[in-house]
Amino acid sequence: MIREAEVAVVGAGPAGSALSARLASQGRQVLCLDSEEFPREKACGDCLNPGGVAALRRLQAFDLAASGLERRPLRGWSVRTAQGPGFSAEYGRGLEGWGVRRRDFDAAMLDYAKGRGTRFLPRARVVEVLRSGPRVSGVLTRVDGRFRSVRARLVVGADGLRSVVARRLGLAITGSGRRKVALVVHLAGAASALDGLGELWVTPGACAGLAPLGDGSANLTLVRDVERNPGAESESPLRRSAWRELLQRFPGLARRLDGCERDGEILASGPFDRPVQRAFWPGALLVGDAAGYYDPFTGEGIYRALRSAELAEPYALEYLETGDVLSLAEYVRVLRAEFRVGRVLERFVLGVVNRSGLLASFAWAFHRAPGFGSWLLRRLGDA
Ligand SMILES: Cc1cc2nc3c(=O)[nH]c(=O)nc-3n(C[C@H](O)[C@H](O)[C@H](O)COP(=O)(O)OP(=O)(O)OC[C@H]3O[C@@H](n4cnc5c(N)ncnc54)[C@H](O)[C@@H]3O)c2cc1C
Repeated sequence: MIREAEVAVVGAGPAGSALSARLASQGRQVLCLDSEEFPREKACGDCLNPGGVAALRRLQAFDLAASGLERRPLRGWSVRTAQGPGFSAEYGRGLEGWGVRRRDFDAAMLDYAKGRGTRFLPRARVVEVLRSGPRVSGVLTRVDGRFRSVRARLVVGADGLRSVVARRLGLAITGSGRRKVALVVHLAGAASALDGLGELWVTPGACAGLAPLGDGSANLTLVRDVERNPGAESESPLRRSAWRELLQRFPGLARRLDGCERDGEILASGPFDRPVQRAFWPGALLVGDAAGYYDPFTGEGIYRALRSAELAEPYALEYLETGDVLSLAEYVRVLRAEFRVGRVLERFVLGVVNRSGLLASFAWAFHRAPGFGSWLLRRLGDA
């Protein structure tokens, strides 16, 4: 069966839902497809930074919270290192992030997009990008074991870290995967001990994030360097023991979490560092992680997903009006310029974290001058 839409958005994460909502609000026929049914889990630290909260406000999706989405305000982060004294930094100036479970946040974002007129097709795995001459003309999906074509004037790849759209168009740069793996668990009732601050624990070759969430649980994300990728994102006996072993590398944290009950499955993701050559093709553009993702450490992914959707909107509308590929090329230029400083800062921070001597010096400096820590946190928080 062939479906038609003006815009086919592949992926209903924050990037796909935000752009679907924006284009549907402008009267465009949008069909959003996802291989999953919602609500679905997603390996993430579950923290929306202040820039992300502001992006929701601009999208007018800020009242998701009022509509029953449980979120917990995050004032800042406390950083503990194996080598230094550690320090705490707050965003300050009335800024806050949110601790919100991705399962609930992404479902609320999709509901928001549907409320704006987006049609949604769940369990639709996109397996191929269709072309007519040099232009993209739609996607081929597999729904409940059957192939279906979706014809569209514009295809949006919002399908995350391992974007099929980017790979099928030859835009993904392969072989660069960052040798890190992340394991994510939710710990029931652990939010109350955190008093509005997330915790970041850093030790050579590994780090751990602990964040309070709106449903009263805490998100524990453990990241470590690995020799090879552990495989697909599902629970396995290997992972069941792996997260407990990894937690032992942070003895202070492990002691505090002793006795906490796990709530839900163990999620895994990695490797990271997935750049693309460029985030467009005639008839297609990429947003969110699909447009390039580096590392989860600085927690800017949801902000960038929402912001890239915001940046893409006018160029997507122009392309639909005129069919001029240059408008998509212009989107990519603007996208690169927007995130350039953030990407430099992200790599700088990771460079420091990966060198224990440097990290100890920075931790000591931030401990002595907390204002500098807040400044850096605001920059990293896209505030
Ligand atoms: C361990 C970890 C911790 C993180 N912590 C944070 C954090 O605390 N804060 C933060 O801001 N960012 C964090 N990030 C990054 C953040 O999760 C991502 O940047 C964000 O989810 C990107 O949103 P997206 O919409 O681009 O992609 P996703 O949220 O990945 O959504 C992509 C969607 O596409 C669908 N899809 C994939 N392939 C197909 C296909 N072939 N056909 C149809 N559908 C498909 C998927 O089912 C999914 O629903 C973290 C990432 C990791 C890995």
